Amino acid sequence: MGLLPFTCLGMKLNDLAKISEGFPLTEKMPVLFLGHGSPMNAIEENEFVKGFRDIAKTIPIPKAILCVSAHWFTKGTKVTAMEMPQTIHDFGGFPQALYDVQYPAKGSPELAKETQSLLTPTSVELDDKWGLDHGAWSVIKHLYPEANIPVIQLSIDYNKSPQQHYELAQQLSSLRNKGILIIGSGNIIHNLGMVDFANAHKDDYGYDWAVEARSAINNHLLDGNYQPLIDYHKQSKAFQLAIPTPDHYLPLIYSLGLQEKGESINLFNDKLLAGSLSMTSLKIS
Ligand code: ZN
Repeated sequence: MGLLPFTCLGMKLNDLAKISEGFPLTEKMPVLFLGHGSPMNAIEENEFVKGFRDIAKTIPIPKAILCVSAHWFTKGTKVTAMEMPQTIHDFGGFPQALYDVQYPAKGSPELAKETQSLLTPTSVELDDKWGLDHGAWSVIKHLYPEANIPVIQLSIDYNKSPQQHYELAQQLSSLRNKGILIIGSGNIIHNLGMVDFANAHKDDYGYDWAVEARSAINNHLLDGNYQPLIDYHKQSKAFQLAIPTPDHYLPLIYSLGLQEKGESINLFNDKLLAGSLSMTSLKIS
């Protein structure tokens, strides 16, 4: 009986399926930004990976994941479109155990094509060479250890401004109603040149400028005041030290672009590390 209004309009079930473009409507999925930190988090047990596991328990099981990783910074925007993405070990000098990790999640050519069409008129290349870099697998592994959820990656076009990235993300919002979990993976404060290895064991340890930047950024996040975060290059010296390059910061901008009216931000793993890094992560719902 429920189909009657549609059959009256001359529509068939096939037409309905086309309208939903493959992924049926679901309850709205949250959006995450995950501070991924050291690749070693992939195989270590610590409070941060516990934070990743715990947040997964608060989210409906996704149909698929779209990840914007700090480690796929490209000319133009690309989306992985292969059936079986390879696990990329894009780092050097780590123990063999880390190179032995495989995360055999499937890809989703279907979601890649839908992402491409949602981002029109921005031209998006369907990529068959990349795979899953450690910005994606080192964290998604903790959320879904069985690798039974398909994962695609969207690259960050290094020629676009933060404002353009923010607006591009907004075009993906309908995916949230189709069971797609969108994850930005980077680190909000990420100054590798200033890492204080001697004090890497200290809990929540940051230089004065990192403490200042974390506080200012968190206040803007919790107030929903995103323009200063988009215009981060116009802010204080502390911001410039916290964000010396855009790669690990821009995934946050993608996550923020997906927030809708009435939604709020929950911070977790909100700690400074080794002076010049932060693990601060968030859920938008
Ligand atoms: Zn990284």
